[in-house]
Amino acid sequence: MLFIELANFFEKIERITARSTIIDSLVNLLRKTPKDLIDKVIYLIQGEIFPSFYGIELGLGEKLTLKAVSLAYGIESYELEKMLKRFGDIGKVAEIAASKKKQVTLFKQPLTVKRVYETLEKIAKTTGEKSQDLKVRLLSGLFVDASPKEAKYLTRIILGELRLGVADMTILDALTIAYAKSIGFRDEIERAYNLCSDLGEIAKILVNEGLEGIRKYKIKPGRPIRMMLAQRVENVKEVAFKIGGKMAAEWKYDGERIQAHKIGSKVILFSRRLENITNQYPDAVEMLRKGLKSNETIVEGEIVAINPDTGEFLPFQELMHRRRKHDIEIAVKRYPINIFLFDILYKDGESLIDKPYIDRRKILEEIVEQKNGLMLSKQIITDNLEEIEKFFLEAIENGCEGLIIKDLKGTYRAGAREWLWIKLKKSYHSKMIEPVDLVVVGAFYGKGRRAKSYGALLVASYNKEKDIFETVCKVGSGFTDTDIERLPEILNKYRINKCHPRVFSKMEADVWFEPNVVIEVIGDELTLSPVHTCCYGKIQAGSGIAIRFPRFLRYRFDKDAKDATTSDEILEMYKRQLKKVE
Ligand code: ATP
Repeated sequence: MLFIELANFFEKIERITARSTIIDSLVNLLRKTPKDLIDKVIYLIQGEIFPSFYGIELGLGEKLTLKAVSLAYGIESYELEKMLKRFGDIGKVAEIAASKKKQVTLFKQPLTVKRVYETLEKIAKTTGEKSQDLKVRLLSGLFVDASPKEAKYLTRIILGELRLGVADMTILDALTIAYAKSIGFRDEIERAYNLCSDLGEIAKILVNEGLEGIRKYKIKPGRPIRMMLAQRVENVKEVAFKIGGKMAAEWKYDGERIQAHKIGSKVILFSRRLENITNQYPDAVEMLRKGLKSNETIVEGEIVAINPDTGEFLPFQELMHRRRKHDIEIAVKRYPINIFLFDILYKDGESLIDKPYIDRRKILEEIVEQKNGLMLSKQIITDNLEEIEKFFLEAIENGCEGLIIKDLKGTYRAGAREWLWIKLKKSYHSKMIEPVDLVVVGAFYGKGRRAKSYGALLVASYNKEKDIFETVCKVGSGFTDTDIERLPEILNKYRINKCHPRVFSKMEADVWFEPNVVIEVIGDELTLSPVHTCCYGKIQAGSGIAIRFPRFLRYRFDKDAKDATTSDEILEMYKRQLKKVE
């Protein structure tokens, strides 16, 4: 098969938008494709060389690609760069460069799909010191024999810029028509795709083994399963209409979803988009290797960034520090994580996805050793909506996004967004825009670097009317090492042996203080909380107002306890900033 046939196909697809015409052209192309090339052609249509979950990269950026173009067509790199600035499209630059070349047709060999693919494969596998030169030479060999149109699409594939916009589901439709004879088999083909996330593999099975092969397809550890997603409701009452009877409510952790495949002592991590992210989380790999008591298993969970001294969750953005290629060990130390597992899909040769959730959770509980930051998602099983509401507020205040409510009978529906999982997030958001001054009324012992001091402080606002102090949050972030060291010295002189009579707290602190020291605190938002007592019951029965993700700013030794921000002021701040979440 000639590469020009593919290039012509790409050109045609770029011009059409009607899905049915795209499918017709795809079917024609697939029918023309030799059996041994079918998977490769599918990957190229997707603008890839390998499925992204292999995590294999070509290692060719814009600069090296231009170098290869320059070498092939004898045009200076700086001229190509000038062209790139003008057109902003490197494919076009390669196309023009190829058309400018005085063709020495005598030795020109037409490009075949096989040769293009094998060369790209070789480029990807070339590693080591001098690999860049070799990669450029291999690529320029392809450009030498490429027509302008081929050069354009080759360049786009290499740089991941093909973007034909042919959706996976469209390719599945075309595969069904081309090889399964009747569209009635589409669901079975999609089922197999959901289990392997690899359209090339599906195409290969279809052409070689037909529908029989597709029906027999089983989960293979190492190949990601397309992830199950959740539907959304606005409030707890709606959940009851969707899932009757008892249900599992779980904290919706605000981190990065992972699907972990453990194969013997090897652990591979896939992201929500099924990319191989194993290298970003060497610590998670270690935790799972040690904590999963089964030889081969596939589990899912959420990685959450934590404050190592207090164990508190940090916002999702903190995980961005793991998105780097170098010095990952530094990021591992500086930005530690916890893992909360919430599902199991496979164990020692057996697929578990068709088992009800309640059974899967039991198996998960059996194989997970909860230690060293590896835990199970916090869960309650209930049909009591008030209990769920309370659990929801607790989740938010602890840095979660809300709850995921799960049907206990629900199977794991790979690749589907259905009502077996329902997300309940906040409908209102009250942004915190100014800091508040709060009184320290209690403290919790620290861990790690803070073992000799306190890890977090329990702080309160002043209720002027009742002349009492009402708790607003636990602050464990924002302290410098010196701030931490000074805590016992500053606070211990006010230490008392039980909660002060003028402090209203539902939380049990490790240590209590007479209300005296004032600190300035800012957070991300003000939320309702079943645990904190500031403005208790004023907005909602059984809840107070709390600060989410609070951070210490400074000591306010100039203020005494009665100068602290009042509970009424906090109520005003909450109301003023309250906005509906879209
Ligand atoms: P959102 O943008 O609201 O997070 P999403 O589109 O990323 O949504 P959803 O299907 O809406 O994904 O929500 C499910 C996500 O919630 C999962 O992908 C997972 O990352 C996360 N999550 C956190 N905790 C849990 C849990 N206990 N069970 C299932 N998913 C959880």
